[in-house]
Amino acid sequence: MHGFTEDHDQFRQSLRSFVEREVTPHAVEWEHEGQVPRALFKKLGDLGFLGVRLPTDYGGAGLDFWSTAVLIQELMQCGSVGVPVAIMAHAEFSTKTIEFGGTDELKDKYLGPAIAGEVIGALGVTEPGAGSDVASISTKAVRDGDDYVINGAKTFITNGTISDFITTAVRTGGPGHGGISLIVVPADTPGLTRRRLQKIGTHSSDTAELFFDDCRVPVTNLLGQENGGFKQIMQGFEGERLVLSLIACAQMRLMWNAAREHGQTRKAFGQSLLDFQVWRHRLADALTSMEAAEALMYRGIDMYVRGEPCAAEISMSKLFCTETAVSVARECAQIHGGMSHMEECQMGRMYRDCLAFTIGAGTSEVLREIIAGATGLSPERSR
Ligand SMILES: Cc1cc2nc3c(=O)[nH]c(=O)nc-3n(C[C@H](O)[C@H](O)[C@H](O)COP(=O)(O)OP(=O)(O)OC[C@H]3O[C@@H](n4cnc5c(N)ncnc54)[C@H](O)[C@@H]3O)c2cc1C
Repeated sequence: MHGFTEDHDQFRQSLRSFVEREVTPHAVEWEHEGQVPRALFKKLGDLGFLGVRLPTDYGGAGLDFWSTAVLIQELMQCGSVGVPVAIMAHAEFSTKTIEFGGTDELKDKYLGPAIAGEVIGALGVTEPGAGSDVASISTKAVRDGDDYVINGAKTFITNGTISDFITTAVRTGGPGHGGISLIVVPADTPGLTRRRLQKIGTHSSDTAELFFDDCRVPVTNLLGQENGGFKQIMQGFEGERLVLSLIACAQMRLMWNAAREHGQTRKAFGQSLLDFQVWRHRLADALTSMEAAEALMYRGIDMYVRGEPCAAEISMSKLFCTETAVSVARECAQIHGGMSHMEECQMGRMYRDCLAFTIGAGTSEVLREIIAGATGLSPERSR
C-alpha cells in the first residue's frame, strides 16, 4: 500500500533519534515562544533534512515524496504540529516554487542556503480579501525599469515574521488567474512590514500578516513566466495537500494512542474506562477511520510520485484525512474528560491544533468542489 523501502526505514531511524534528542524536549517551550528557533532549521539543514525533494545540484537529496512523508511522520512525533508546519512551509511550499520557476541565478541565491538551513522561506498567497479564491488576489506588482514595485497585503502566512524570503503571489496582469505571477521578495526589502498573528492553535509555528508598501524587487526575482503564477500555485497545492494529509494522519495516531492509554488507566465506577463497551467501540471506530484515511492518503502519494494526474485523489485524501482528524480528536478528547480542556494536557493541544487542518492548503468545501468538478458533477474550482 505504501512505498516505503529499506532506505526510507534508515532515513526514519536517523530522523527519529534527531527528533527525540533535538525537538521533542523543546516542543512545549516553542509553543510558548510562538515560533521554532532558527537554530532548528540550521540543525536540520546540516543533516540534510531540509532538501529532501530538492535537486542535488544545490545540496538537496533529490528524493521522492515518500521521503518527505517520513520527514513529516517523524517530526510529528514531537507532539507540536507547528514544528512540521514551519519546516514544511520552508522545505516544501516555498522552496519548491523556486525549484520549479527560478532561474539558475535565483536557485544559486536561495535554494542552496535554504537547503543548508541558513535562510528561511515562506509562501505568501492568501490575502485579507482573497483566500480560497486565489484568482482574485489584488497585491499588485507594477514594472518600473528593472524592478517590480509591489503594493498590497498578505495574511495567515506561515513563517511570516521569521522568514528571510517570501515567494509571493502578485498581480502583474489583468483580472483573474491569467494575471498572477510568483516573485521572490527578500524579507529585508524596504517597505515590507510584518506582524505576528495570535492563533488559537499550532502555536509553535509563526503566522503573520505582511504589508507591502512600494516594495522594489528586481524583475529577475520573477519565478517562471510573467502572469504564469496561477498554474505554479495550483501545482504546488498537490504537494501541500499531501503534507496536510500526512500531518492529520500522524496526529490521529498520537491522539488515539493517548486515548487508549488514558482509557486503560483512568478509573470510573470501579473500572477502567475501556472496560465500558462504549469506549472500546468508539476507539475501534476511530481506528477504522484512521486506517481508511491512511489508505486514501497512501494512494494519493503513490499516484503523485508516479506522476499520474491525481488532483481529485489528493483532494479526497486531504478532505478525508483532515475531517476524520477533527472527529477523531473529539472522541479522543472526550475520553480525557475535563483534563482535555486543560492547557497542561497535550490532548487538549492536539485537539485544537486539528481545527486548522480543514482550512489550510484548501478548505474542505473547496476540495469538495474540486472532486465534484473532476468527476463531472460541477465546474472545477480554482482551489
Ligand atoms: C494556520 C494557518 C496557516 C496558513 N499558512 C498559509 C501560508 O503559509 N501561506 C498562505 O498563502 N496561506 C496560508 N494560510 C491561509 C489558508 O490557505 C486560507 O485560510 C484558506 O485558503 C482559506 O482562505 P480564507 O481563510 O480566506 O477563507 P475564505 O476563502 O474566505 O473562506 C471562508 C469559508 O467559505 C468557504 N468557501 C469559500 N469558497 C467556497 C466555495 N466555492 N464553495 C463553498 N464554500 C466556500 C470556505 O470553505 C470557508 O469555509 C494559512 C491558514 C492557516 C489557518
